[in-house]
Amino acid sequence: MPSVNSTIQLITREEAQAAGSGAPASTCTPGLAEGPWSFDTASASGAWAPSYGPGASLADPAPAATPRQGEIPAEYRLASDAELDARILAAKDKLGDKLVILGHFYQRDEVVKYADFVGDSFQLARAAKEKPAAEVIVFCGVHFMAETADMLSGPDQAVILPNLAAGCSMADMADIDSVQACWDQLAGVLGTGPDADGKVPVIPVTYMNSSAALKGFCGENGGIVCTSSNAETVLEWAFERAHRVLFFPDQHLGRNTAKAMGVPLEQMPMWNPRQVLGGNDEAALLDSRVILWHGFCSVHKRFTVDQIDKARADHPGVRVIVHPECPMPVVDAADEAGSTDYIRKAVAAATEPTAFAIGTEINMVNRLAAEYPQHTIFCLDPVICPCSTMYRIHPGYLAWVLEAYAGTGELPGGEVLNRITVPDSVAVPARVALERMLAAKP
Ligand code: SF4
Repeated sequence: MPSVNSTIQLITREEAQAAGSGAPASTCTPGLAEGPWSFDTASASGAWAPSYGPGASLADPAPAATPRQGEIPAEYRLASDAELDARILAAKDKLGDKLVILGHFYQRDEVVKYADFVGDSFQLARAAKEKPAAEVIVFCGVHFMAETADMLSGPDQAVILPNLAAGCSMADMADIDSVQACWDQLAGVLGTGPDADGKVPVIPVTYMNSSAALKGFCGENGGIVCTSSNAETVLEWAFERAHRVLFFPDQHLGRNTAKAMGVPLEQMPMWNPRQVLGGNDEAALLDSRVILWHGFCSVHKRFTVDQIDKARADHPGVRVIVHPECPMPVVDAADEAGSTDYIRKAVAAATEPTAFAIGTEINMVNRLAAEYPQHTIFCLDPVICPCSTMYRIHPGYLAWVLEAYAGTGELPGGEVLNRITVPDSVAVPARVALERMLAAKP
């Protein structure tokens, strides 16, 4: 199977609009396969506004506070693939058990091949714990994942994000100031105290794909974290304690989960942080069960019902499985919806040769196809456009951070570059919200 790197396709806003998809146009470019430093340095120098770079997220505005990556030494930018490979392996060998490399399911093959663990964000954050001898945890994922790993790892372990510009456009759609402003407005409409049954008016629930600050906000305000695997369990936990939920940042996971639990769509108003009361009137908020933040994943919003119809026409009997970050009509039209872990297990459990049309990130789909050649496994979206923020981790950055810690001929080593740390003022309440999630797990 050709690598994603060689098959990324160009989508322009104009083409997407001309195709009449009705969806917001997004952009992607084969330039994504090049070294991402040109985007990082241009952005860091202020030549253009913060951006997520080329890829599915390009059309989404990045907040001004988005971390930027400075220029890395030329030797890493100019090195051949073979040279980077040799240097990464040598540094890994030298560091041995002092190092653990974590690779997200959506990470590119050229990086994930060095990972000691491959998994979803929460699996990886917990995997770091299983390597207490590791002094450094190099997280080949995105910023919020590295934050979670820092909060769950030991105090003497340093978490490194090889490229600071590897953020997540969805996580960035809910910032702590906007959520606090929403919370204050909701208190004005819904009140704050519990009723005679002890239920509070609203509980905040944040998806794992959010900043540590939002996890801390939930910990401080009686709230909880959820993953795409346990969102229903977490909502049940919240409904036992509150009349309604404020769910952020992913509207689709919130809507799909609550709908499956029987919550009517009319009781799921959207909160637009740019409008007073999120664009709602008081009556709608008082009648609500789940208030959905106006956030989404740039990768998963690309999937459509038309793609499912085509997959069914081309492959009669195909099993369509999509991620719950996809829009509701897509989840409704699919045979199944589930987390990356669910999708992996569904494919692994199929005993007969099966056609699977999968609605999630292309690197993961291609890896499944290579791992299970007895099945026909393909991505619902025919356009190859990976998660662009995950793609900001390039082997050049990995070699840079590893050699700084391991040392080379000239460098003594011991230098921790791009360390991600969460201050105790945030980490302590965030851990409370994470522990509530673990306790709620059936
Ligand atoms: S796939 Fe979507 S939610 Fe995941 S890191 Fe990329 S932009 Fe964020």
